[in-house]
Amino acid sequence: MERYDIAVIGTGPAGLEAAITAKVRNKSVLLIGGKGSSDKVSKAHMVQNYLGLPNIAGDEMAKAFLDHAKEMGVEITEDKVNAVYSMGSYFALQCHGGDYEASSVIVAAGMTAMKPFDGEMENLGRGVSYCATCDAALYKGKTAIIVAYSAEDEPEAEFLAERADTVYYLPQYAYSGSLGNNIKVTTGVKPVSIQMNDGKAVLNTDGEIFTADGIFILREQIAPSQLVPGLTMDGNHIAVDRSMKTNIKGLFACGDITGAPYQYIKAAGEGNVAALSAVSYLNDLKKSQN
Ligand SMILES: Cc1cc2nc3c(=O)[nH]c(=O)nc-3n(C[C@H](O)[C@H](O)[C@H](O)COP(=O)(O)OP(=O)(O)OC[C@H]3O[C@@H](n4cnc5c(N)ncnc54)[C@H](O)[C@@H]3O)c2cc1C
Repeated sequence: MERYDIAVIGTGPAGLEAAITAKVRNKSVLLIGGKGSSDKVSKAHMVQNYLGLPNIAGDEMAKAFLDHAKEMGVEITEDKVNAVYSMGSYFALQCHGGDYEASSVIVAAGMTAMKPFDGEMENLGRGVSYCATCDAALYKGKTAIIVAYSAEDEPEAEFLAERADTVYYLPQYAYSGSLGNNIKVTTGVKPVSIQMNDGKAVLNTDGEIFTADGIFILREQIAPSQLVPGLTMDGNHIAVDRSMKTNIKGLFACGDITGAPYQYIKAAGEGNVAALSAVSYLNDLKKSQN
């Protein structure tokens, strides 16, 4: 497997700037995120405070960011990272589409306002999971519940249903899909809490109660402490120093995920600092290995 110098998670201003700076410094870069820029850029009505781009519509600014990255030869891998594990001198990234390795990682995944359900964290890895395609093989002949937040999750339900006996699919978006066969779709119910009962996962909603062998929660964003086990947090944010270092050697964070103010220019600036710090870390690593 190819080992990249730097893996960057997130294609908002922080992640794009980090990837551009890493490219300028001649490092091999894996940038993972959505194909377009972040929704927080493309959906902004009018932006007035980004240096050099006065009074620009969000979608135009998103295009300018992406064009810049493309011009620098940054390729975006359209995928979602489920977990990052420190392996000592490198990191293993577990994604929906496959696994990757990198010598250092920059987390630029933005902020999520979503709170975990009661019982979610306590049962994570013991009945609750965030990646149906990763765990599908374990569900042969079993039942599973999927709580999904986007129509883009529907192929994941289909994949799981090829293995599982029954999949209960609870869309939390305006569902207009055509999932069928052994996928039972229930719309209009909101999950409230999760508990394990005699080895079965029980999802309590504001309507029905669902019971299955496991529950998959497919949110766009994953809480940082779940994304990277062992990360030191500062409230809801990843704790970093001025060089964007986290408590994990070789892992850096930037943008909204490190705290307020939530601003494009702050995110991009931190992306630049994180990339330079990663480059310096890689240089030291190389020296120590020679
Ligand atoms: C409507 C609106 C208007 C705004 N207007 C302004 C303004 O005028 N001026 C200003 O300075 N700021 C403004 N902001 C704030 C600004 O949008 C944010 O501060 C900025 O986008 C933060 O950049 P970021 O790169 O840290 O995170 P984001 O832009 O949130 O990007 C994070 C990216 O990471 C991706 N991601 C998350 N998890 C994963 C994962 N596990 N795997 C792969 N990818 C992942 C997300 O999909 C997202 O694309 C506005 C925000 C909003 C919502």
